[in-house]
Amino acid sequence: MNSKKLFTEAKKVIPAGVNSPVRYFEPYPFFVKKSQGSSIWDEDGNQYIDFCNGYGALLLGHRRKEIISAVSNQLKRGTLFCTPTELEIKLSKLIIGNFPSIEKVRLVNTGSEATMTAIRLARGYTKKKKIIKFEGCYHGAHDSVLVKAGSGSAHHGISVSEGGLPEVSKNTLVVQYNNSQELERVLKKNKDVAGVIVEPILANMGLILPEKDFLSDIRKITKNHNVPLIFDEVVTGFRVSPGGAQQHFGIKPDITTLGKALGNGFVIAAVGGRKEIMNQLTPGGKVYQASTFAGNPISVSASIASITTMNKLKNKIYPKLAQYCALLSRAIDDIASDLKIPHQINFTSSMFQIFFTNKPVTDYRTSKKADAKKFQKMFRSLLKSGIFIAPSQFETVFLSDAHTKADLNKTLNAYHTALKSVKN
Ligand SMILES: *Cc1c(COP(=O)(O)O)cnc(C)c1O
Repeated sequence: MNSKKLFTEAKKVIPAGVNSPVRYFEPYPFFVKKSQGSSIWDEDGNQYIDFCNGYGALLLGHRRKEIISAVSNQLKRGTLFCTPTELEIKLSKLIIGNFPSIEKVRLVNTGSEATMTAIRLARGYTKKKKIIKFEGCYHGAHDSVLVKAGSGSAHHGISVSEGGLPEVSKNTLVVQYNNSQELERVLKKNKDVAGVIVEPILANMGLILPEKDFLSDIRKITKNHNVPLIFDEVVTGFRVSPGGAQQHFGIKPDITTLGKALGNGFVIAAVGGRKEIMNQLTPGGKVYQASTFAGNPISVSASIASITTMNKLKNKIYPKLAQYCALLSRAIDDIASDLKIPHQINFTSSMFQIFFTNKPVTDYRTSKKADAKKFQKMFRSLLKSGIFIAPSQFETVFLSDAHTKADLNKTLNAYHTALKSVKN
């Protein structure tokens, strides 16, 4: 019962005992001791096959040798200089090489910082005020995007966070995901829109796929209205393909944000895009962005090793992930059908999620209609069987390159037991 004891201690010194809200679940989260490959171990000695994978960050698995070795080498040379390094040029070139829409890139630390900078850049570049986001998309924990957001904010039923200024949130217009006509209408009515931000694949409301033409339509519409389009690829970048969702769907946004799999477990994110937009950043331009830890050599060397590994092995990694994910999703779908449990399963590349509802899940509203209590029951049963998925209906199940066929078999058995418990 070490985790239980640790949680009691944690609550005394950490608000609600956790450092990020989705980490909490009833009755208490397990405390992790170590990880390797596809597994994590808790303080009670239990082993779990990890399908949370740092909310998608660990595409290559825990403690991937190429990355650990690059970081170990860098540790011998220094951890923080706050003056430029050649490594940053190398990483920027790798990012630009994978993402043709990115001509220049700034490194930051977190996805939230990346989207905050992207939005400020769009405002600075267009000299306009409002931004448009889609219902259920999560772009981090800052005021202008914490409006009808997914992830922990949907899980905990927070539409606009307390402490956020209405003056800020009123400048965020919200449009239904997979509804490009609504975007067109809102853009026609509002002439003061600085940018449109979207998750090209919605991975923070469970998993929701863009319908055919949705992304190409919003690209056309934003172009016609002369409004920068921001692809928030913090989840999809490097995960869906080496060039993210934009490569997969063949769409060029004006600004892109990256994070999570960019560092495969190390703290790094990025914002990049067209030169004339990126050049607005200080000190060249007047859009301010700064950070002590941005481009620190530890994260940068981890990221260089991640991208180099992903690029080198892309013909193995991506087809394997897609194959494993399809196999798992279809088998879970079959189990739930055999048990006659009303459900939907959405999957693509290395991500999937099940929803307990008989209607297709295509946006925030249909995702919210799924039976989240059943999901919690399934989650608890999976955990008992040694399978860790993110503890919320509004998150996604992530595969990593470290998962093996044996992991999949164990996972399917666990889902079988879990789904039977949901039925009762
Ligand atoms: C996780 C996430 C963010 C926020 O990233 P942090 O590193 O948690 O700040 C932004 N956008 C998307 C799409 C995300 O999934």
